[in-house]
Amino acid sequence: MSDLKVYSMASDPIYIGTGGYTIGRVDNTIVRDPITRIPKIPGSSFAGTMRFYSALELQSAFKEKYRSKPAERKKIENIEELFKEELFNKVDKKEWITTYSGNKWSLMKCAGQDDKPNEYYDNDEDIDKIDSEKSGHCGHCIVCKTFGYSKDSKSQQGIAFFSDLNIIFFPVYTRKGVMWITSKQLLEFAGIILRDIESPQGEQVFVITNEESDKGGNAINLGWLNLPYITKNYSIEDELQEDIKEYIKNKIVLVPDDLISHIINSNLEVRTSVSIDPLTGASKQGALFTSEAIPRGTIFYGDIRLMERPVSNDMPSLSQVEAMINDASKYYESFGIGGMVTRGFGRMKVFIDKSEGGTEDEQQS
Ligand SMILES: [Zn+2]
Repeated sequence: MSDLKVYSMASDPIYIGTGGYTIGRVDNTIVRDPITRIPKIPGSSFAGTMRFYSALELQSAFKEKYRSKPAERKKIENIEELFKEELFNKVDKKEWITTYSGNKWSLMKCAGQDDKPNEYYDNDEDIDKIDSEKSGHCGHCIVCKTFGYSKDSKSQQGIAFFSDLNIIFFPVYTRKGVMWITSKQLLEFAGIILRDIESPQGEQVFVITNEESDKGGNAINLGWLNLPYITKNYSIEDELQEDIKEYIKNKIVLVPDDLISHIINSNLEVRTSVSIDPLTGASKQGALFTSEAIPRGTIFYGDIRLMERPVSNDMPSLSQVEAMINDASKYYESFGIGGMVTRGFGRMKVFIDKSEGGTEDEQQS
């Protein structure tokens, strides 16, 4: 088993809707943790987009001619041969694509969850036609093996399990500029332990910084809340992931666990939009609606667990799967996650870290 830590930072507001509820003045509400009420990105959205981007990356390795006619690539015995035949774009050759033999069966349809018949076959004798008849999934490629597939004859659970992406640092505008709020509980969830710093009590907050400037005592405004604060001299940098610490170091405010949900929920982005009538191109009467979203700059944490399967001869290796996930992650920066991506929502940066100890487990098995 191997555990990949995932950090992400929203570069746009992120909207993942619940579909239909109206709370207060907001028409389109976002997904929240049922207990803490803190908004999150559900693991299902994360896994679904990662599957799509992995398939996209895999398909982009095939030249145009073979991308549209997988049957032609399947005639070739093995993947190395396929590669030698220069059917792949050589510019960007990737080990997880060119050495895992199941990949020659792959289709763009492996990206989705549909189970429509496969239309790609132009050859009646194709044995695999029967195999894929009832599903869009090929059932052989690294995408199908990683995320699972189902068809009439056969189905298999994937080897990758995606957690929710939970908020660990949330940006709030203050008179000191933008600060990122967090709480002991949120940090512990991500395995970040602040030694010698207790959780603040009551309505007090701690500004965690390495710079010695003011010692606190005054109040800091977190949105409309004005709270007294104490400056804690502490370097949290060693415990933070490389890519995110540049943004937030010395700008962290630790708030009591029982206040964090309240502060996050009162500082969400709320946008008002107008529905456009597709026939006239004008706005519809009474079609003003509001949507809430997680603001840009929010930092999330989650993990991806990869399970080693006992029958491994036709399975990709965990390092191949890891490489695929790494390569697929770049698509979040341009295509994003969640709803309203055409209105400038959803893009984020995703950073994947392999956690320590993962390789040890692999060696034992
Ligand atoms: Zn597939």
